[in-house]
Amino acid sequence: MPELPEVEVVRRGLAEHVVGRRVSAVEVLHPRAVRRHLAGPVDVIGRLTGRTLTAVGRRGKYLWLELGSDTDPADPTEPRDPADSGEGSADALLAHLGMSGQLLVSDPAAPPQKHLRVLLSFADGGPQLRFVDQRTFGGMSVETLVSPAGGTAGAAGRVPEPIAHIARDPMDPDFDADAVVSALRSRHTELKRALLDQSLVSGIGNIYADEALWRARLHGRRPTNTLTRKAGHAVLASAAEVMAEALDQGGTSFDALYVNVNGNSGYFERSLNVYGQEDRPCRRCGTAIRREPFMNRSSYFCPRCQPPPRPARTARDPDRS
Ligand SMILES: [Zn+2]
Repeated sequence: MPELPEVEVVRRGLAEHVVGRRVSAVEVLHPRAVRRHLAGPVDVIGRLTGRTLTAVGRRGKYLWLELGSDTDPADPTEPRDPADSGEGSADALLAHLGMSGQLLVSDPAAPPQKHLRVLLSFADGGPQLRFVDQRTFGGMSVETLVSPAGGTAGAAGRVPEPIAHIARDPMDPDFDADAVVSALRSRHTELKRALLDQSLVSGIGNIYADEALWRARLHGRRPTNTLTRKAGHAVLASAAEVMAEALDQGGTSFDALYVNVNGNSGYFERSLNVYGQEDRPCRRCGTAIRREPFMNRSSYFCPRCQPPPRPARTARDPDRS
C-alpha cells in the first residue's frame, strides 16, 4: 500500500507531466474505479473532457488535479465555462490509490496495462495519464473544492469537499506541530493509534509510525496523555524526517504492485530501522527487534530503546513498599 512519501512522489510526477495539459478524451474501463462519483461514469467523462488540469494538490494520501476552463484558447468557438472566472477552479479530479493503485504517464502507443481502469488522453497528443489498479480499492471522482475552516484563503487553500476533514501531514508546509501535540496529549489513547488517526495528523501509515517511534525512542503503546510536549514534538519531527528521507529515495515500496508515476519502484525499504526487522539487532543498541500484533497488523520496536509502558496498576504493588 502506498504510504505518504510515495503519494508525494506521484504528486510531483503529476505536477511535472500533466499539469497545464488539456484533457481531450476520457475512458472509464471499470465502473468500480469511479464508484465514489455518484453521478456515474458518463458524468465523470463529461466533466473531465475538454478541461485543463491547472494544478495538483495533496492532502494525506489523497491527490487531486484542479480543473480549469474548458475553453481552448486556440478555439474561440468553444463556450466559456462560467465556473472559471480567473479565481481558480471550482472543481477537481480527486484520486486515491487505495491498496494497489498507480497513476502512470504512458505513451499513447503503449499497450493498455492489464488492470487499466481509467484513461485520460490529452489534446497535445502527448503521454496519457493512466489509472491502473489491480485490487480496485482506489478510485477517482470529480469533486467541488471548498475552503476548510481555518484553511488558507484563496484557491491554494482549497481542498475537495470529501477530504476537507483530513488533517495536514508532517511534510505539509502549513502543518501546525504545536496544535497537533496539544491535541495528542488531550486524547486518551495509545500513541501509535493516535499517529494513525487521519483526523489528527494525516499520512502516517504503519511503517512510518514504527520508524518515527523508534527514532523518538517511544513505544507505540505509550498512553498519549502521559506524553511530554517535548516527546510529542520529537515523534512528529521524526515522522517528518523519515518521510523526507523516503521521498529523497523515491518512496518505500512493500507492494510489488506499487510503482510511482513513471513506473519506477521505490527502494526506501533498504534503510528501514525497525519495520519488518524482527529478531535483527537494533541499529542503535544491538538488542533484537521485537514484533507484536497491532490492529490486525504488526508493530516493530526495540525493547531497550523503546521500553513498553508498564501496565497501569489499580492497587498498590504488594511487592514494593
Ligand atoms: Zn535499541
